[in-house]
Amino acid sequence: MSDEGTPKDTIFGKIIRGEIPADIVFRDDTVTAFRDNSPRAPVHILLVPNHVIPTIADVTEADEPVLGHMMTVAARLAESEGIAEDGFRLIVNCRDHGGQEVYHLHMHLLGGRPLGPMLVR
Ligand code: AMP
Repeated sequence: MSDEGTPKDTIFGKIIRGEIPADIVFRDDTVTAFRDNSPRAPVHILLVPNHVIPTIADVTEADEPVLGHMMTVAARLAESEGIAEDGFRLIVNCRDHGGQEVYHLHMHLLGGRPLGPMLVR
């Protein structure tokens, strides 16, 4: 991909390009989804746009199709993972206060057990 070698390139870019292994559960021209390698729930999948957007604060109107597609893919993966009926959580962390570790926008799909309150007070 054209992001290779740019300052924006991250470990997720390497996964998308197949340069490092990951448990990929879905991919198409727009989005790649793979299992988090440090799962916080029985189902913990990361959905990533194939093109780098560093954070959700960086999106523009041009990104709306890929962002909408990520939601649709998340819903289909929740079904195929068997967590849609009981419910699940989608999380997008942003920058420092949001706890973002990897600066390639990604959405966490979490489920498979009751996830508790949204935030610890
Ligand atoms: P965030 O804190 O929202 O940036 O989430 C980054 C997530 O990426 C964390 O949940 C990590 O466990 C996960 N992660 C980091 N490196 C890898 C990797 N090589 N394969 C799968 N998941 C990863």
